Amino acid sequence: MQQNRELFGDTMKSQKNNNMPLTNLQLQELRCSYPQGMTLFREGEDRNCAYIIEKGEVEISVIKDGKKVPLVRLGEGEVFGEAALIGSGKRSATATATEDCEVFRIFPSILRDRIMRLDPLVGLLMSLLVNRYRKWRYVSPELAAEAGVVEHAREDLSQVDKADGFLSDLNAQKKVALQELRMAQNIVEAVAKGELGPYLQPIVTLPDRKLAGFEALIRWHHPEKGMISPVEFIPVAERTNIVGQLDMMMLERVCEIVPDIQKAAGVIGRKIYVSVNLSGIHFDSDGFADEVVEIVRRSKVDPAQIVLEITESALMGSPERAEATLRKFKAHGLTISLDDFGTGYSSLSYLHKFSIDILKVDQSFVSDIHNKNSKSFDVVRAIVSLARTFNLSTVAEGIEHEEDISALTSLGCGNGQGYFFSKPMPVDQALEFVRTSVAKYG
Ligand code: C2E
Ligand code: CA
Ligand code: CA
Repeated sequence: MQQNRELFGDTMKSQKNNNMPLTNLQLQELRCSYPQGMTLFREGEDRNCAYIIEKGEVEISVIKDGKKVPLVRLGEGEVFGEAALIGSGKRSATATATEDCEVFRIFPSILRDRIMRLDPLVGLLMSLLVNRYRKWRYVSPELAAEAGVVEHAREDLSQVDKADGFLSDLNAQKKVALQELRMAQNIVEAVAKGELGPYLQPIVTLPDRKLAGFEALIRWHHPEKGMISPVEFIPVAERTNIVGQLDMMMLERVCEIVPDIQKAAGVIGRKIYVSVNLSGIHFDSDGFADEVVEIVRRSKVDPAQIVLEITESALMGSPERAEATLRKFKAHGLTISLDDFGTGYSSLSYLHKFSIDILKVDQSFVSDIHNKNSKSFDVVRAIVSLARTFNLSTVAEGIEHEEDISALTSLGCGNGQGYFFSKPMPVDQALEFVRTSVAKYG
């Protein structure tokens, strides 16, 4: 087996496409292929990740009295090596591909970052379930009898299933998880193939409609499915920890686009900015702020032309770290915009605590703002006055009607964005928009 490992170790195929490095970031390798006979890990090695089998079969075995004892053979959808998710330590068994295999690797950071940090209780329950699941794992009676190792009385899964339906829930979850991992892998591959990139939506001053900047919104041009909305894939990217790669790819692209936009504007005496969405999932993770700063620095773009859009949830997980990150951004001349304002905590206490420059009024309040008797009108009035108190500028999202503009202007909201001005558009159209907008509104 050791020999197999050495033989195949260097040639292990990964699904990552190395020929098209459209982004210079290291893409996380989630899916790996193992040829028949290859050892995935062996007893006594350090645990680093769990595996989910997408295709093929894996045998789990232990060494007893110097002899290999097979414990179980696992197929599609099965999880193994899961103890790595709940703690370090050594592998208690060896895993070998008994057929050519495709497996997804699940690193503890994925669970830790996503679940433990968001909700300690969920994290605790996860650990408990993983532990229990290990005990319940079905050991093939033939293999066990053959090996003479029925040292633990293990329950048959079907018994457990009958008892409380827990396993059928687990199976349903497993299917969803596998689907998500496939999608995550597809996203990573699509990034490498250059299928994902920004659309730009203008942000204008109110009421005079001068172009202030753009928001970059990610789009996936799928060769068969056509355009895929971020609403479909960003949540999956967040749950599978690859959203950071998407956000950094978008930031890199935006840094390339900014000079073209400024050039298209000609001599206007002001800088046009582009804002980039940053998911809260990785906001306070190690190295994140440095990576953002480094991308902007390397591009040589004026940092004053880059706005980072974050949501309140990004600040709430670990407020001190979040503030340190914001301060680092500010020290490098970047601007911070608080997205979807009014939908989250919207607590007064953090507005003065965090280094924020812009409040983006969520579109749910803007959609019926033309009705002066609506609650939204009062909410937006409160938000704008709050912004004024803290010396922040405001951008109203989701402006669709002319009447929205007069209502927002009467409340003192300085900037707007929405389908009324333009839907998000491809970069070349955005450059054309810059030219016509500057010619018309200055
Ligand atoms: P968001 O950041 O709140 O972006 C605004 C969304 O509202 C965009 O949807 C935009 O197309 C849409 N929108 C703009 N004006 C109007 C309007 O007048 N009416 C209506 N009904 N909608 C309007 P989109 O592009 O589908 O993006 C959805 C969400 O996906 C974004 O919401 C953001 O949370 C996320 N997203 C988009 N791009 C990225 C990205 O690069 N990174 C991350 N992490 N998230 C992104
Ligand atoms: Ca946004
Ligand atoms: Ca928003």
